[in-house]
This record gives sequence, C-alpha cells and structure tokens, in this order.
Amino acid sequence: MICGARCDKQKNGVVDIKAKYVVIMERIGEAAAKSGRDPKQIKLLAASKSQTVAKIEAAVEAGVRLIGENYVREAMDKKKLIREPLEWHMIGHLQRNKARAAIETFDLIQSLDSMELARQLDREGQKRGKKVRAFVEVNLAKEETKSGVVQEELLPLLEVAGELSSLSVEGLMAVPPFRENPQDVRPFFRALRQLQVKFSGLRIPNVELRELSMGMTHDYTIAIEEGSTMVRIGTALFGPRKA
Ligand SMILES: *Cc1c(COP(=O)(O)O)cnc(C)c1O
Repeated sequence: MICGARCDKQKNGVVDIKAKYVVIMERIGEAAAKSGRDPKQIKLLAASKSQTVAKIEAAVEAGVRLIGENYVREAMDKKKLIREPLEWHMIGHLQRNKARAAIETFDLIQSLDSMELARQLDREGQKRGKKVRAFVEVNLAKEETKSGVVQEELLPLLEVAGELSSLSVEGLMAVPPFRENPQDVRPFFRALRQLQVKFSGLRIPNVELRELSMGMTHDYTIAIEEGSTMVRIGTALFGPRKA
C-alpha cells in the first residue's frame, strides 16, 4: 500500500486527531442544543499530559487553542517546542514553591486550592506587575486523594482572593468522582454550578466566576447540560495516555 506522508503521520499516532476533534465538537454542539445553550459558550481545552508534542500540534492544527497541562516542568518543555500562540492552563495540583514558574509558564491556573497559594500567586503577580488569572478548584465529594477546597472552604478563599489585587479569580473547576454511568456525575456538576450562582451574587472584588471548568472524556456531555463553559478532554482527543 502506498500512502506516503499519511503513513508517516500514522506512525506518530496523530493522523486521527482531526477526526476525533470533529466528533468532540459535534457532541459539544449536540449537548448544547439539548440544553438550549449556544455551543459558542463552551470551550474545549485539550488535556495533554503525557501526550507528545506531535499530537498536540495535530490538535492545534485541527482547531484547539486551549492547552491544559498537569506539571509545570512538562508544560515548560512542551511550550519551547510549540510556536503557535495558545492559551496554556495549569490543571494539576500546584505546589506553592512552583508558583513563580507556573505563572511564567501558564496563562491561567485552574487549580487554586488554598489561601497560601492565593497569596503566593498574588505576590508573584505583583512583582511582575501583572494579574494572575485563576479558577478555584473545588473538591465536591471531599475525596481524600484529590486536591481542591471543600465547599465550606470556598467562600473564605474567595474572600481572601478579594483582597489580593494581583489575583483575578475567573471561574470554578472540579474533577468529580468517576462513576461508571456518567449520569451519576450529574449531581456534582449541578453542585458546582450552584456554587457559581451563589457566590457570583456576592460581588467580591477580583472575583468574577464566569467560567465553569467541568467535564472530561467520560462525562463532558452531561457537564455541558449542567452549564459547563469549558470541558477538559484528554483521552477522547489524543487516545490513551502512556502509563
Ligand atoms: C487528565 C485530566 C483531564 C482529562 O482526562 P480525560 O479523561 O483523559 O479526558 C481533565 N482534567 C484534569 C484535571 C486532568 O488531570
């Protein structure tokens, strides 16, 4: 069989990323329609941890503009090799001692989960004279193994953020528990949306909860039905991750 460049690409496992992207965008459109939403309100973030630069570039060629990485180092290395202007989001747990490197690498930190980290990000932002954009990560099911603030800690954190003028809190993020049936994740998505509504009404300075980052490969259509504005998709776009 003669297939030239196409087969070369296939060797890197990148040839079907465009097709997968198209399917995901269609499903986003369907889920939006089902819940009476404008699909333009929903952004796709490509969760690219452990995926190759070649695959990320294929996703960018297909139309991806938002990249989510879980580790500062990995994101730094990849960013050096990818020239397109993209928006990079930190979606993994962030240690305070990596705050500086994180804000130099990322456009937005989705995993703000403590007052100490909020203060550290604010200090680093101040030094650079720039606003650090962040979402607060909420641990909806109080899972020991997951980061994020529990619901009771959310308001106190938002109030602290309100006093930090170099921090801009723009949304909420959550990684709810895995359930075999994605319908069973729906109550968690609904809970995050309710927190957004509740705390948007308080008009805390530097806090404007526009975005709801929720929904992954297994459950993103349900998340969209419950108000997600940003789905973070890895496996459905790139295929399985290397162990
Ligand atoms: C890995 C990861 C994702 C994507 O997961 P998939 O199930 O592969 O779509 C989304 N969000 C976070 C925080 C992740 O770590």
